[in-house]
Amino acid sequence: MLKRVKLMFDKPKYLNNMAIKRVWLDESENECISCGACETACPQVFEVPDKMVIKAGVDFNQYEAEILDAVDGCPTEVIKYE
Ligand code: SF4
Repeated sequence: MLKRVKLMFDKPKYLNNMAIKRVWLDESENECISCGACETACPQVFEVPDKMVIKAGVDFNQYEAEILDAVDGCPTEVIKYE
């Protein structure tokens, strides 16, 4: 029974059209002001030692909602993803 319930709520990968493949800092228009909001929103992905950097080896798909929160919360809109 539990297995059946889990299958009902798991979203198959092929239906996941929000899969995030890459996250980066784009300062072509604005600059990172090192506010730390992205690290607060998703410390598993973002670090702000000086300017924002993306942690190496992270599976972005585990943190989609948090990454999107960080993107929305960035005051200078320099976090990009695809
Ligand atoms: S939220 Fe934006 S401006 Fe603030 S540290 Fe992160 S990337 Fe930089």
